[in-house]
Amino acid sequence: MPMDIQSTLDEITEMMDARAERGHVANYVPELAQVDPNQFAISVVTAAGAQFNAGACNVGFSAQSITKVFTLAIALGRSGDQIWQRVGREPSGNAFNSIVQLEQENGIPRNPFVNAGAIVTTDEVLAGRAPKQALAEIVGFVRAAAEDADIHINEAVAKSEQAHGHRNFALAHFLADHGNLRNAPELTLGTYFHQCAIELTTAQLALAGRFLMGADAGPRMVAQSRVRRMNALMLTCGHYDGSGDFAYRVGLPAKSGVGGGILAIVPGAASIAVWSPGLDRNGNSKLGTEALERLAHHMDWSIF
Ligand code: GLU
Repeated sequence: MPMDIQSTLDEITEMMDARAERGHVANYVPELAQVDPNQFAISVVTAAGAQFNAGACNVGFSAQSITKVFTLAIALGRSGDQIWQRVGREPSGNAFNSIVQLEQENGIPRNPFVNAGAIVTTDEVLAGRAPKQALAEIVGFVRAAAEDADIHINEAVAKSEQAHGHRNFALAHFLADHGNLRNAPELTLGTYFHQCAIELTTAQLALAGRFLMGADAGPRMVAQSRVRRMNALMLTCGHYDGSGDFAYRVGLPAKSGVGGGILAIVPGAASIAVWSPGLDRNGNSKLGTEALERLAHHMDWSIF
């Protein structure tokens, strides 16, 4: 089986490296637009602790929306179920940065994995503290989950998004207008942009995702009942308006980011991180999704 995982990852990587059609790199954050699309990496950590890597698994990439999973875990730890008074648990069927539903639903974002929802969970984690302290907790959580202190925020990416994040500013002000923001919009957004700019490799991300497998894999970061619920949200909401298609094709709870990374979980069995910067029309990694589809099929990994 271990040999099988490694050879499968090698085969998939070879196949993906040869692909000409790789999707489009996110360009609304200028710093992300500079990333070379011709990169691919995949890493797997099993519940037993075995690690497998292939491709550019030591190249750091921008985690972006994948960090929304970690922030949700912290927000749930701090506030428990009260957070659900401020954010919903339904798939959005809309783009990650859509403002439409916010207006229709009185400033309550659909779920914690669309931008508006993550701005709310970040706001909850900030809770009157200095952004530096909240960010230290978020980065500290990711480092502890990965058991790796060498995970950092890319300041240039954070600044680049801050300078061009008009839509996120609109979302934050809209939330504030509805009384669903506790801190000044610029403080919550500053924290949000910096958390999105956490940079890690697929090898580090697969390790950071171990706690979501449950089964006492890796450091225990949250209770098992919460792990199940987080996985339910990742399955239903982890890929924006492409969540249904991803569940159909891959069949695993997962969270994508516009940096081209995806963290996918095989409950009780494996944590998988994949990265390829080119995105499909929903803003999810094109080759990353295909690679996960192939791996899950080959390993017979599905929650169904
Ligand atoms: N920082 C990005 C934004 O707020 C995250 C979006 C994503 O990764 O999907 O636009």
